[in-house]
Amino acid sequence: MDEFSLIDEFFRAAALARDDVALGIGDDAALLRVPPGVELVAALDTLVAGRHFPLDFPPADIGYRAAAVNLSDFAAMGAEPRWALLGLTLPDAERDWLAAFAAGLADALNAAGVALVGGDTTRGPLTVSVQLLGTVASGTALRRDRAQPGDAVFVSGTPGDAAGGLACWARRDEDDPGLRHLVTRFSRPTPRLALGRALAGLATSCIDVSDGLVADLGHIAAASGCGALLDWQALPVSPELVAALGEARARELAAAGGDDYELCFTCPPARAGAMAAVAAACAVPVTRIGTLRAGQGVLIREADGSERAPAARGYLHFRSAGG
Ligand code: ADP
Ligand code: MG
Repeated sequence: MDEFSLIDEFFRAAALARDDVALGIGDDAALLRVPPGVELVAALDTLVAGRHFPLDFPPADIGYRAAAVNLSDFAAMGAEPRWALLGLTLPDAERDWLAAFAAGLADALNAAGVALVGGDTTRGPLTVSVQLLGTVASGTALRRDRAQPGDAVFVSGTPGDAAGGLACWARRDEDDPGLRHLVTRFSRPTPRLALGRALAGLATSCIDVSDGLVADLGHIAAASGCGALLDWQALPVSPELVAALGEARARELAAAGGDDYELCFTCPPARAGAMAAVAAACAVPVTRIGTLRAGQGVLIREADGSERAPAARGYLHFRSAGG
C-alpha cells in the first residue's frame, strides 16, 4: 500500500468536516479560517512506543490517547480545539493496525469536534505526534502563572487511577470490572474540555495532570511564584484503586502517579461555591485538595496538621523524567 492511498483510506475518510476548514488533507498545506477576536492556541505531544505506552498497547488506544493528551492541554487552557495534524512514523504500513489506530484517533478527535487537516507519514520506529490547533477568546485563556497565595486548590476526578491501571497492566484481562476501569483510565483518558472552558473567568490558574498531582501543582506554584500545601486526607481516591492496590499505595498514586489528564486548578475561596456549581453542571466531580501560600514548593499536610515533603517520584512509568 503506498503512502497516498493509506492517507486517503484511513485518515481523510475519518476526518470531520468543519466550516472553518477551507482546505484539508490533500494539498501541500491546510488552509484554516481563524475567526476575529481570538488567540490561536497550539499544542503538540509525541508518544513513543515503549516509552509513553507499553509495546503491546492496542493500536486503537494509541490513536485515542495521542489525541486525548493534546485535547487535555486545550482543556487546561480553557480553549476550543478545532484542527489537528498527525505526524505518524511507522515500521510498516499494516492494514489492520492502521484501521484500528485511525478509528481510535477519530473517536477522540470527533468527540471533541476536531477536524484532522493534515500531517506527515514516514517509516521508522513507531512514534505518534499530534499537533492541535484551536482558539480562545482573546485574554481569557487559563494559565499556570496567575494563581495567588490564599487560593484554594482543586482537582477533578480521582487522580492515581491511570497509574494504577498501568501498574495492573499485566492483569488487564482478568475478569474484574474494577481493574478494567483503572486500565481504561490509562488507555482512554477523558479530556476535561467542558470543565476547562467553564472555568475560564473563575479559576486563577489551571494545569492538566500528566506528571502527577504533586509535580503539576508544583508547576502552578513555581509559575505563580508561590508555595502550595496539599491536604493528604483530602486526596480523592477511587474505590477501584483502593481495591486493586490498597489504601496507602492508592493515596501515593493519587499524589504522584501521572497520566490522569484531570485538571488541577485554583481559585479564591470566595469563588469556591460558583466553581462547585460549574463543575456540577459539567457532571465532573471536583475536590478541594489544598491551598496556595507564600513561599515556594509543594508540601503535604497530614491529618494531624504536620507538614512533610512529598516522597520522591519513582513509580513504574513509561515516561522518563521530564519526557
Ligand atoms: P508533501 O510531500 O507535500 O508534504 P505528503 O505526501 O506528506 O505531502 O502529504 C500529502 C497530504 O496528506 C498533505 O495534505 C498532508 O497534510 C496529508 N497527510 C500526510 N500524512 C498524513 C497523516 N498521517 N494524517 C493526515 N494527513 C496526512
Ligand atoms: Mg509531507
